[in-house]
Order: sequence, then C-alpha cells, then structure tokens
Amino acid sequence: HLYNMLQELRGNIRVFCRIRPMFNEEAKCTIDYIGSDGSLMVIDPAKPQNARKIFQFNKVFGPTATQDEVYRDTEDLIRSVMDGYNVCIFAYGQTGSGKTHTMCGPSNRSNKDMGINYMSLNDLFQISSTREDVKYEIRVQMVEVYNEQVRDLLVADASNTKLEIRSCSSDGGLSLPAASMHLVQSTADVLDLMKLGEKNRAFSSTAMNQRSSRSHSVLTVHVHGQDISDSTTSSCLHLVDLAGSERVDNYETTGDRLKDAHCINKSLSCLGDVITGLAQKNPHIPYRNSMLTQLLQNSLGGNAKILMFAHVSPEADSYGETISTLKFAQRAS
Ligand code: ADP
Ligand code: MG
Repeated sequence: HLYNMLQELRGNIRVFCRIRPMFNEEAKCTIDYIGSDGSLMVIDPAKPQNARKIFQFNKVFGPTATQDEVYRDTEDLIRSVMDGYNVCIFAYGQTGSGKTHTMCGPSNRSNKDMGINYMSLNDLFQISSTREDVKYEIRVQMVEVYNEQVRDLLVADASNTKLEIRSCSSDGGLSLPAASMHLVQSTADVLDLMKLGEKNRAFSSTAMNQRSSRSHSVLTVHVHGQDISDSTTSSCLHLVDLAGSERVDNYETTGDRLKDAHCINKSLSCLGDVITGLAQKNPHIPYRNSMLTQLLQNSLGGNAKILMFAHVSPEADSYGETISTLKFAQRAS
C-alpha cells in the first residue's frame, strides 16, 4: 500500500524505454548515452556532429538488460492488481524492435527468458497462494485487434471468428462477452494458452502477409478476490503487444496494405491521444476513436495504472523510426 500511495503522488502513467541489442555489429549505433536517471541521448548517424537529441523517461533499459531486470521494475505494478487496481501494460515500437520479446520472450524460446506475460501470471499465483484470508480466481482472455475487428485467439479454430463487442457499463466501456474465458490455476495452464494464442496469431500472419506485425494482441487477466467476510475485489491486467508503429510510407502502399497501415496508425495515434489526455488530466478523453481504446476504456483512467514500454532498435537505418517512437512515448509521460 505504501507503493500505491507513492504511485498516486507520481501519477498513474509510467514510460520505460527498452533498447534491443544490435544485430549487425558493423552497423552504426544511434544510441549515444543512457543515463541511470532515465535519460537517453540519440545521435543522428548522418550528422553526428550537430544532431543529438535528449529524451527523458522513468527508466531506460539498455541492450544488455535481462528479462528479470525488466520484470523487477514491473512487478510492483502487477502486484497492485491483487489489491483491486486495473493495470495496462503496452509494448510499443517498430516491427523488430523487441515488443514480443518483452511481453512473451525470445523468438526461439525454450522456457527460459520468459517475458512479462508469463512472469506476471506466475507472480499473481504466488501472491494468491500466500494470502490465506482471500480466495482468488484468475481467468484469462486473449484477443487480436486487426483493422478495427476483434478475434478470439484462445479457441481451437480462430481463423474465422469475428467477435461482437458490446457496451458493458454505464460509462460506455466495452467488453468481450463472446471471447472465451479460461480459468487458470497454474503456470502450466498459462503456457498452454499462450501457445494456442501464439499459434492462432502466427497462422494468420503466414496466411495474410505479416498480419501479426499489424495487429494488436491483448491478453487480459481478470482477478477476482473474495475474503472471509465475503467482501470482493475485481480487477483486470491488460498485457498488450501493439502493432508495429512504422509509418505508412515504409510500406508499398497499394490496395489492402494501405488500408492495413492506415488503420494501425489510426489506432496507435488514438491510444497516444488517450494517454496524453490522461497525463494532462483533460476532462474529455477520446476513447471512442478506436476499437483498442474502447476495449481498454475501463482500465485507462480513474485510478488505473498504465505502463508503456517504448522499444527501439539501435541500428542507424532505424534512426527515423527510433526518433518517432521516442517522441510518441515522451508525449505520454
Ligand atoms: P517485435 O515484436 O517488436 O516485432 P521481436 O520481439 O520479435 O520484435 O524482436 C525481433 C528479434 O529480436 C527477435 O528475434 C527477438 O528475439 C530479438 N530481440 C528483441 N529484443 C531483444 C533483447 N532485448 N535481447 C535479445 N534479443 C532480442
Ligand atoms: Mg512482435
């Protein structure tokens, strides 16, 4: 609870930056300096002498940061879900910058180096087993949002199921009554579901031309607690692997691809508008402008807590996208 008090003083939005390792050791690196205070200096590889830009975040994880180190700075947020807070964690960045690595784990993974999705469920189970006076139930849903349509990723055949979403509360928030809900009791249950979700996501990416880099995947963890005096808490943790943030003009913009790219920019910029609105405590927050923000509405605002990971690739040829990712993320903080 001390943490929650401190968090209220600091505001409910945190932004972390994570820089993935260089893949090509010969390439020039755009990261000039990482400060322990969350500052970051980026250098334009084309004009190194005159173009250094400084950004400030709550924390910056460099290329050698481990999954454990990243989780250690996330766990207090995850744990507040057990006390009834709604939490949203977003992975933002261009395709290939490490979003899925942070949320799920490395692409070639054994069960090592697991990402935030697995680590947080593991943690929630541990906490629930130590609190003998509260009985917790943990359920998960996983959906994909693509071109403003929602698809359940936790059914055997996800290829053709389009879900209806509907208003579930007086303040206009939406819910996914049709998305399958799975009671989980162990990390083994979670791993099975994650595999199914990833398989369903991958299926469409081969079938539909890298669709997975242009869709958002949302893993929602519902936590319901009931204590001996029968008082209950309900809260949600949303773990969101966002679509690639690269700009439209990086694609061959013809036909369907233009439509795809356009939609993604729209929902990412809507998310940016919502988070900026919350950071500035604006009276009107534009949730209604995209499917993603409508879906998450009940967990974006009020006393909900938000953590955005801004992922960047350090290579020189990503410089333009790196700057636009850092600007987007800085706008949110
Ligand atoms: P994205 O989901 O943003 O498209 P990925 O998470 O798939 O990017 O990352 C691209 C590749 O880089 C993957 O092979 C991934 O395992 C690797 N990678 C990303 N971040 C890291 C990191 N911090 N350490 C080691 N490898 C990483
Ligand atoms: Mg990915």
